[in-house]
Amino acid sequence: MAQIDDLPPLREVIARHGLDARKSLGQNFLLDLNLTARIARSGGALDGATVVEVGPGPGGLTRAILAAGASRVIAVERDERCLAALAEISAHYPGRLEVVSGDATRVDMARLVGEGATATARIIANLPYNVATPLLVGWLRAEPWPPWWASATLMFQREVAERIVAGPGGKTYGRLGVLAGWRSEARILFDVGPQAFVPPPKVTSSIVQLTPRARPEPCDPDVLEQLVAAAFGQRRKMLRSSLQSFSSEAAALLAAAGIEPTRRAEEIDVSGFVALARAAAD
Ligand code: SAM
Repeated sequence: MAQIDDLPPLREVIARHGLDARKSLGQNFLLDLNLTARIARSGGALDGATVVEVGPGPGGLTRAILAAGASRVIAVERDERCLAALAEISAHYPGRLEVVSGDATRVDMARLVGEGATATARIIANLPYNVATPLLVGWLRAEPWPPWWASATLMFQREVAERIVAGPGGKTYGRLGVLAGWRSEARILFDVGPQAFVPPPKVTSSIVQLTPRARPEPCDPDVLEQLVAAAFGQRRKMLRSSLQSFSSEAAALLAAAGIEPTRRAEEIDVSGFVALARAAAD
């Protein structure tokens, strides 16, 4: 692909700022401009959009998001070595890139986005694998709901992506599939091989697209999480046994939710878990 902007090539940026990738920070950089443009495009129509990016690193994906027309990009980066490189991008796109230096798991993103952009902001990120799941869980548990984000386009390890989009009946179905399925529609858009990254990780990655459901079936997220943790914590057992660690009245809860006590966690769909959570909260 031809240059997307007049900024220096990413390899040069990385060399000039000494941004050798650190495993402890989940750093696997994307330098392929076709791929960063494809990920940005997958985030929807970005013209005039507010985008939150976690972990911009040297800024490859950030540049693609800005080139795609986002009017405001809020990028949260933990590695202070990247800040000078990101400042160069800010200068190139005046007033459009806000870099927040810090740990994304501790940042209140709804507040950063602000009320004007609430429910319209898009999250686009090549996530650091070591905090990818807690970040997603936080976004899925946002209150109030519908949340501050209108879509999330995220890179995960393929194995995690499969768990996010999993439905009942398979080994990959568990806590992440229930939570993601309850509050969003989630699908894998495409895979990205290890060679696309510098340095290449050991596993294949996937881009996952999540769209919040406007009206998920009502239930208490804390109760749902505890229940699902108990059910899948002993996934081979029948629910009448595995739910004992959640409630001493497991049999009554299953009866109230209309679920056979001999069923196993991986056979229960999201509505079944929601019915159980509601029975537990009564
Ligand atoms: N977006 C860049 C790209 O696609 O080339 C870099 C992606 S790299 C997989 C993950 C990035 O997240 C790194 O820049 C890393 O420093 C940053 N990071 C790691 N942990 C973080 C955290 N807790 N909060 C914010 N950024 C973090």
